[in-house]
Amino acid sequence: MKEKSIFKKIIAKEIPANIHLEDDFCLAFDDINPQAPTHVLVIPKKEIPSLNELTEEDHQLLGHIWLVIPGLANQLGLENGYRVVVNCGDEGGQEVPHLHYHVLGGRQMTWPPG
Ligand code: 5GP
Repeated sequence: MKEKSIFKKIIAKEIPANIHLEDDFCLAFDDINPQAPTHVLVIPKKEIPSLNELTEEDHQLLGHIWLVIPGLANQLGLENGYRVVVNCGDEGGQEVPHLHYHVLGGRQMTWPPG
């Protein structure tokens, strides 16, 4: 049987995470290696490896996640702004093959990103 991915284990509560928000479709929890004072990952509960594997069927799910993020940012106290990042594939810097949105805040972001 295929080993559950790290994020699937977090969804199943088999490994701990500091969860900020959970609903039927997604979960938001602190990144284990924060790159900013606030660094939260928002993941769909559906296991989608990356942006490249999205299908028309995921339309509503994606809209849902984008609508969740501003409320989450507000809950996290990011009233001065924040950044949302999705890494895709090797050159995009993606390490975990389960679609996730990094929500980063609590410091001034710079551009371009590394
Ligand atoms: P990626 O590089 O794939 O865009 O981002 C994966 C993120 O998942 C990284 O920022 C990494 O720190 C985070 N991460 C990896 N393993 C774990 C874990 O077991 N728990 C949590 N909370 N975050 C993790």
